[in-house]
Amino acid sequence: MLGRAIIYDDPLSFANYTKELASKQRDDMVLALILDDSTKLGNPQFPMSEKGESNSQCRDPATQSPHHDVDCSFGKEPRPICRWRNGLGSHSSLYRPWHYYTERSRIDMKIRALLLAIAALGLVEASPVSHPAKVSYDGYKVYRVSIPSTGGAITEEEASLGGIELQRRRTGEGWWAVDLAVAPDDIASFEAAAAATSSRFGGGSHEILSHDLGADLAAESTTGSVSASYKYKAEGGAGGEALPGLEWFDAYHPYADHVQYWADLQAALPNNSELIVAGTSFEGRPIQGIHLWGEGGKDSKPAIFFNGNVHAREWITSVVVEYILYQLVTGYKNDTLVQKVLDNYDFYVLPVVNPDGFVYTQTTDRLWRKNRQVRANTTAIGTDINRNWAVGWGGDGSSPNPSSETFSGFAPHDTPETAALAAYADSLRDRHGIKLYVDWHSYAQVILLSYGYTCTAFPANIEEQEALAAGIAAAIAKPYNTTFDHGPGCLVLYQSSGNGRDYLTDVGKAQFGWGIELRDTQYGFVLPPDQILPSGIEIWEGLKYAWAQF
Ligand SMILES: [Zn+2]
Repeated sequence: MLGRAIIYDDPLSFANYTKELASKQRDDMVLALILDDSTKLGNPQFPMSEKGESNSQCRDPATQSPHHDVDCSFGKEPRPICRWRNGLGSHSSLYRPWHYYTERSRIDMKIRALLLAIAALGLVEASPVSHPAKVSYDGYKVYRVSIPSTGGAITEEEASLGGIELQRRRTGEGWWAVDLAVAPDDIASFEAAAAATSSRFGGGSHEILSHDLGADLAAESTTGSVSASYKYKAEGGAGGEALPGLEWFDAYHPYADHVQYWADLQAALPNNSELIVAGTSFEGRPIQGIHLWGEGGKDSKPAIFFNGNVHAREWITSVVVEYILYQLVTGYKNDTLVQKVLDNYDFYVLPVVNPDGFVYTQTTDRLWRKNRQVRANTTAIGTDINRNWAVGWGGDGSSPNPSSETFSGFAPHDTPETAALAAYADSLRDRHGIKLYVDWHSYAQVILLSYGYTCTAFPANIEEQEALAAGIAAAIAKPYNTTFDHGPGCLVLYQSSGNGRDYLTDVGKAQFGWGIELRDTQYGFVLPPDQILPSGIEIWEGLKYAWAQF
């Protein structure tokens, strides 16, 4: 796919990338673009972050297919242009991502010489590049507002308040609790409107969840060590390499570090796991993860299939999924419960199924939700991957409007991410069936059963599902008294059409096709890093209950 730019502003990132290439996880064509020395790149909070820019200019507006031999622009103004010389390689090479590296004095001289040599060959012409500034939420307040609903429609009341919706859930017959982020200039009018709503409906209330969202974001990024190279602790896996230490769960991490972490986890259990790629994101990133198995060899048992970070801003989900992986990898040595579940099931775990969106939350907008797909005839970017699945597609609880946070796409599976995940699920179903699917989300603390697209139909085994979910919720509460609700998503949270769990239930034939909304109910998406490990511990406790039943 043409039009993805990755900036490596650190020699270690470059080295990791070349390692990735060598291990054939990616077969991208590497091209280098030397940037002007004065170009200011890099992100002080995420020194190794991977930065992506979608590239609408290089696509045919009608067919969305990449152009050949045309000027290639990316990003916002000013638009740098790299002119591909005619006759550069085969046409197919132009479909592949191209990459460029910042030229910095700290880049290894050998790499620098290589880049300069490539530039000297005249493969590309370079000009300085600038990136959109990081979206600021300084001074934003977050409110939880109680809003009456009529037949599930609250749009009008909510629209009259303004603000950016972060989350909503049903709080009782006819009422919603909606969390809204409000810009500093709008706070006075918002509070007046909220008070008017409250008096008009003879009830309702609003409370402040955050007095300064920008300050919360700063705290999230500086607490713990968001470091370029996380530390190792030689705990040792089951016959493999030393396992990365638990300090991984003290902080959130750049995407490139996650990729490295998965490789390190897999290396710690080399005989019972492999790295997997389920497909490719819109911007060309592999959708990666780990497949683990026990006795009987790989791909011989029913599947347990986990997807994390489908919504980009839900950072807690990928680290909790990684904590589950950590427990599986360490536990297979000597934990009889882990041995039992791995001997009876093949685990397919994809911690970040929306890598483009996740990277974008780290480079540009922490509260981005959707993927980063560019479409014809609209300037809006992004489709909600969790409204793009075929079951119930296009119904209430999704939007046909490309600007909406719940944009369903123009057809089922017309995002590369959903298409890849659906195909992956279909193949798991066809091989040995699917025992459990969990699509990990935040925030609400709810175990969501099917269905989301309808509130009046239920899976045939709904009672069995409710019983398992109740047991898991009780187990989750053990370590820290954290309360998790459970029930069909449409009833306990909100209606959502075209979601993954409904597809896995009806088409994937999973015995348990679920979504789980993780912590918390106060900080929301910006969950402080010191809650990562407790969140992982309580979820693992809940899953152990499931493993015992399985
Ligand atoms: Zn979500």
